[in-house]
This record gives sequence, structure tokens and C-alpha cells, in this order.
Amino acid sequence: MTPVALTIAGSDSGGGTGIQADLKTFSAFGVFGTSAITAVTAQNSMCVAAVHVIPAEMVAAQIEAVFADLPVASVKVGMLGNADVIAAVAERLARHGASGIVLDPVLVATSGARLLPEEALDALRALLLPRAQLLTPNLPEAAALTGSQIAKDEAAMIIQARALLAMGPQAVLIKGGHGTGRQSTDLLVDAGGVTRFAAERLDVGEFHGGGCIFSAAIAAGLARGWPLAASIARAKHFISRTLAAAPSRALGSGARLLHP
Ligand code: PLP
Repeated sequence: MTPVALTIAGSDSGGGTGIQADLKTFSAFGVFGTSAITAVTAQNSMCVAAVHVIPAEMVAAQIEAVFADLPVASVKVGMLGNADVIAAVAERLARHGASGIVLDPVLVATSGARLLPEEALDALRALLLPRAQLLTPNLPEAAALTGSQIAKDEAAMIIQARALLAMGPQAVLIKGGHGTGRQSTDLLVDAGGVTRFAAERLDVGEFHGGGCIFSAAIAAGLARGWPLAASIARAKHFISRTLAAAPSRALGSGARLLHP
């Protein structure tokens, strides 16, 4: 049977991030993608021009419709928009005993647009972090969620990942992509310890959507039944390949688009 994954995220009219990137990524992994849209953004590769958050009841209704009909094997959670949507998503995921939840704590777009207000951070920490099999913060997101400075080295990354782990997710993948150095190293921290996933840092310029594609690829792996570490390793390979191919397939004039 074709594996089924659900993405709960924002729509990006420009097709580079959010729901659109997630569904393309699911397809690339042979996974049937379903969606619950939390916000509609008017966006392209350069900027987020407008955001309309969907009423929480409508987000809940979409999740309900999907679970009522389809065997959802994993869930990627991205942009949520506000605390009411966070509460509705947490409640529906609990009601359906959802597993394989990959939570990408989307806070601010590469262009600088705020995608989750500061006052919703408490709801995200309290209601959704404890439901996640995996939390996938980048360095600025890990700093915001732990109330710390942006980590400058691996030791600081591990301290922040452990602080996040204490908030309830089964594992934390803290992503080094926003750091410096020849390697872009992500650290998986769980009860078993620390696992490193390194890739050569690609000097291909600024692209957006990478975080969405990466977390969707991990969720796709979980939907296929791969173990967490294998899902992360294959997703890392997938995003590296997508980034490496991006300059020759460039679309968009701003922070440019990736094609998963
Ligand atoms: N817009 C939506 C709907 C998203 O889900 C995200 C990312 O997670 C973004 C924008 C930001 O993407 P980026 O920071 O890659 O521009």
C-alpha cells in the first residue's frame, strides 16, 4: 500500500516552501501527500507580501477529514500562524493518536517575515513539542525556543538541544545550516546520546524552502517505515542533492527556489 503522510503547514503561492514544497517532497519519496492548510501566504522567492491565518476550526476540520479516511503514517508540522491554531492542531493530533510527528518550528522566513508571533511560543512549547517524535530547529529557532543566544559551536548546540528535549519531544535535530565552516553538521540528540549528520557546506548562494523540504523528507521516510536515523540520513542526502542542482535550475529572482 502507498504510504500516506500529512503536512500541516502554510500555503506558499510561490511554490518554494510550505505545503507546496512538502507535497512535492512527499511525491519524490513515493509517499501520498495530504494537507491541512494553516495559513495562506502571498509569497514569491523574494518576499512574503501577505499572510492570512485560517480559523482554527477550519484547520481542525481539515485534519479531521484526512484522519477519518486515510491511514496517516507520519505528520510534518510547519507554519502554524497563531496560538489558537497550535491548540487545535495539538488537540486533533492527540485525538487521533498521530505518530511520526516531525515538528519544524517555523518562526521567521528567510526574508525576515514573522510567521509565528512571539506570544504563541509558549503554546508551541507546551502543546506541540511534547507530541513530536522529532523537533527540527535551525540555530535561530533553537535560540528562540530556549531563550538563548544563537549557538556558535557544537557544545552550545548540544546544550540547547538537551534543553529542548526536556520540553518533551522524543528527539531533537538541531540543524547547523545557518552556521559557518566547511561542513554543515546537524546533531540528533535523544535519550541515547548525540548522532552527527555532516554534509559538505555547498556554496550555491541563498535558496529558500530548504528547511521545509528537509523536514518533509524526514516525515516521508518515517511514512515509508524507515527508522528515524535512516530517515534523517536520506533526507539530508536529498536536500544536499536538491541544493547542488539548484543553481542550474534557478527560478525566481530573490532568495531563489529549490525544486525537490
Ligand atoms: N512561508 C511558509 C508558508 C513556510 O512554511 C515557510 C517555512 O517554513 C516559509 C515561508 C519560510 O521559508 P524560508 O525561510 O525558507 O523562506
